[in-house]
This record gives sequence, C-alpha cells and structure tokens, in this order.
Amino acid sequence: MPLSEFDLINRYFAHHGVTRPDVVLGISDDGAVLRVPPGSDLVVAMDTMVSDVHFFPDADPASIGHKALAVNLSDMAAMGAEPAWATLALTLPQSDEAWLAAFSAGLFALAGRCGVQLVGGDTCRGPLTLTVQMHGFVPEGMALRRAGARPGDVIYVTGTLGDAALALRMRSGNTEELAHTHAAFLAERLERPTPRIQAGMALRGIASAAIDISDGLTADLGHILKASGVGATLEVEHVPVSTAFTAMAKHKERWNLPLSGGDDYELCFTVPPEKQAEAEQLLARFPGGCTRIGVIESPHGLRCLLNGEVFEPTASGYQHFSA
Ligand code: ADP
Ligand code: MG
Repeated sequence: MPLSEFDLINRYFAHHGVTRPDVVLGISDDGAVLRVPPGSDLVVAMDTMVSDVHFFPDADPASIGHKALAVNLSDMAAMGAEPAWATLALTLPQSDEAWLAAFSAGLFALAGRCGVQLVGGDTCRGPLTLTVQMHGFVPEGMALRRAGARPGDVIYVTGTLGDAALALRMRSGNTEELAHTHAAFLAERLERPTPRIQAGMALRGIASAAIDISDGLTADLGHILKASGVGATLEVEHVPVSTAFTAMAKHKERWNLPLSGGDDYELCFTVPPEKQAEAEQLLARFPGGCTRIGVIESPHGLRCLLNGEVFEPTASGYQHFSA
C-alpha cells in the first residue's frame, strides 16, 4: 500500500537531523515557531528544482536531496548569512519509498553538516518538483549585497569554475570520456555542489558586493555590475579551473565554460583595495580559497581580456523563458 502523506512526512522528514534551540516549534503543527536571535537580520531565500529542467529524472535521489539544499545554502553564503532553518515543498508523482529514503538521507546529511534544521514544508502529488526555502542570520545591517562595488575594487571568485558545465556536456558526449578518472570529480561538482558558507560569513564587512554563481560568471557578475552601477574588466586567463577541467575540456570549452557555463555555486565578490590582503588571508583558510580575476571600473559593461587581447565569450547565462 502506498504511504499516506502523514506517514511519509513522519518517516522521512519529521524528527530527522539537528535540533536547534531557536526552533520553538518544528514539524508537527500548522506552522513552525522560530526565534530570530536579537541583533540579527533574518535572510530568506528560495530555490526550486524541477525534474528534467534542473536534474535528470533518473539522477541519484541522494544527490538531488543534497543539491536542493545546497543551492539555497549557496544563496545564504552570497548574503554572508549563517544558515539556520529550512522548509521543503515536495511535489512527487508517487510515494516511492526507496527514492524518498535516499532523497531524505542526502538532504539531512548536508543539513546536519551545516547545522540546519528542517522546520516544515508541504507535500503533494504532481510532477517531481522540489522547493527549499532557507532562513539564516546576519548581524544587523551586515548582509552582503549585489550593490556596493566601486571602481578600483578587485573581483574574486572562490573555488574553480566550469566543472559542472563540463560534466553536463560530457553526459551528452561519448561514453569513453565518462569512464575517465576526471569524470567522477566533474560529476560530483555538478551533482553535489559545495556551498561556500564559511567564506560568505568571513566576507562580512570586507566584500563590497557579492553573488553566488548559478547562471555563469559573466551573467552573475553582470548582476553585481548593474546593481552597483559600474563596469569591469575580467582577465580570463586568471579564472580558476580544476585539474580535471583542464584535462577534459575541449579547446572551445576551455575559455567559455568557466565564463558562462553555470551551476558552479561558487561566490563572486568584490573587495576594496585596502581590504584585499585581509580578504585573501581569511579565505585562504577555507577549501577552495579565492582567486583574483579582474577589477571594477567606472565605464559600464563587462570587458573580457585573454592574455591582453579582447575575448568575446560565446554564450551568457542560462535563462528560463528565453527562446
Ligand atoms: P497543513 O495541512 O496544516 O498545511 P500539513 O499536513 O501539510 O499541514 O503538514 C503537517 C506538518 O508537516 C507541518 O508542520 C508541515 O510543516 C510539515 N510538512 C509537510 N510536508 C513536509 C515536508 N515535505 N517536509 C517537511 N515538513 C513537512
Ligand atoms: Mg493545517
């Protein structure tokens, strides 16, 4: 017999993972009761993942659980927020217990590592869709924003770019490539991104602007430039890529995927010159570190240089609803 909605919630989502003292009432009632610490601003973000749009329908459910939370944690990181509470809207075609067990395990493994408690949600039948809403805290007035970059500020990114986009390309390529040792690393970067939460929190009071890279570096940096009313020059050869990426990328992909591939979930941020040393020192302590890739300038628009020559990236950013 298929699980009832209430059994499903109890078996896979209620009373799992961490218990936070700021959760007055968690999963059980018509609403959660939550206590924001005094002196903190509450930061809220939401991201939806739709089967066939954001992941393959037959993808590992544990990875789907991980990623549904990770993309929201990445938004917290981009705001400099410390993640605290999550809610989950789950739309399922059927109550497949093996799928739910693995999905729940993937989600709670990451939630546990980040001290996040699932405090509520909604469950209904329909095409497989996962929506997570994240809540986190920053000290009052300290949230990182897209607006705030000034001419002369240095542009950085965490980690490496292009890995996830290359993994996605390889899926539709030949199977020989997928057997390569580097393929597993790239697939991991696509399916189980690492939200840069510690880096985001460390950048409070240091970064003048920040964003997480979900649609591709040039598109997302473009949001910082627009919100800040500035332009920038990127030095494309400095954009960090992994060993696996360098080994597997074809000539055309080598420069384009790190710039416009997307799904990286790294941070892109700007730092005023006087705080550069501090930023680099702080971020060196975290996995992925940070790399200087360009500079903010007054003239609007984004200019890309590859070894000093003008470089035009081929595509810019994934957009829903575009033709
Ligand atoms: P209501 O019908 O009053 O909206 P529900 O029956 O939908 O309540 O939910 C009962 C409890 O289970 C609530 O606390 C709700 O937040 C929680 N819940 C429902 N679905 C999920 C889910 N997918 N993940 C986590 N909590 C959930
Ligand atoms: Mg109710």
